[in-house]
Amino acid sequence: MRDGLAAPGYERCRATPVRVRDVRGASDDALSAAHHEGLAELVDGGEPALPSLLDVKVELARRALAECRLCPHECGVDRLVGETGFCGVGARAHIGSQMVHLGELPDLVPAYSVFLAGCTMRCLYCRKPDLLDRPREGEPLDPETFAASVRAGVGEGARTLKLLGGTPEPHLYALLSGLRALDVPLPVMWETTMFASPQCLEIARGTVDLFIANLRYGNDECARELAGVEGYLAPALAALREVSTWTDVTLRHLVLPGHIDCCTAPLAEMLEQALPDVEMVLLMQYVPFGRAWGRPELARRLTPADRERAVEAVAARKRLWSVGDLA
Ligand code: SF4
Repeated sequence: MRDGLAAPGYERCRATPVRVRDVRGASDDALSAAHHEGLAELVDGGEPALPSLLDVKVELARRALAECRLCPHECGVDRLVGETGFCGVGARAHIGSQMVHLGELPDLVPAYSVFLAGCTMRCLYCRKPDLLDRPREGEPLDPETFAASVRAGVGEGARTLKLLGGTPEPHLYALLSGLRALDVPLPVMWETTMFASPQCLEIARGTVDLFIANLRYGNDECARELAGVEGYLAPALAALREVSTWTDVTLRHLVLPGHIDCCTAPLAEMLEQALPDVEMVLLMQYVPFGRAWGRPELARRLTPADRERAVEAVAARKRLWSVGDLA
């Protein structure tokens, strides 16, 4: 998307040869060096290389599971032997649902959307609580089956591939393995809260064509109270800055009732400082759901006055691209 080149990122990584011969048997240092060199010498599509930069990424992502620090929770658990951390995701990824979906910005649809089970945040109002509560249920993400499903989605008109959940970060190994098997050239989008570690982003680098960054909270206290996350903002903003150096980013924020002054307004200011050239999309579709009914301020929809105030608060600080609802 960003550079106008024809091939999506994962195809370029798959076509980029690396100097290491035995990817699985290579030392960590040799693998990191091959990764670094491959990223510096990306080719624009073509036949898969053997081995390829994408092979190296898959192996790096597999090794990362042995002491998982793919998000700022930094659980350090060995997911390869069945341990689980905050997200509850094991070594395998599971898909809650997948479909050709139109609930996205017009130039990104139809999108083949893959809803992954498990998340690094526990937002009280999450509309997919089953994905949070059952991170190891659903259809296992097997690379060949994944590729066949996406191919079928293309047959139904999909123009993009959207990976969301949940959130993609805990599933990095499975997703890269799936992309390696993919034989249709779709731009890849991650829809994420940006609660991602530098390690996760470095391995993902080059395989994501657009980050749909759903920034949730404008201060750490609200992130702790509403999502059970310690220290959300600094790593999320750092992740945003990082990915904006190598791919496209769309900035999004769901306005929450009772959180315009503490979350929406300061977030707009921070996003203006972090990414002044990227416009912001303000979402107004909040409806109380699940555990949100236990929080008085979240147990209602936005009023017209809320909407007006949120737009004013953001417009005073950051350029707005659009305001509205997404299905
Ligand atoms: S992805 Fe994040 S929450 Fe899940 S185990 Fe790894 S560090 Fe913990």
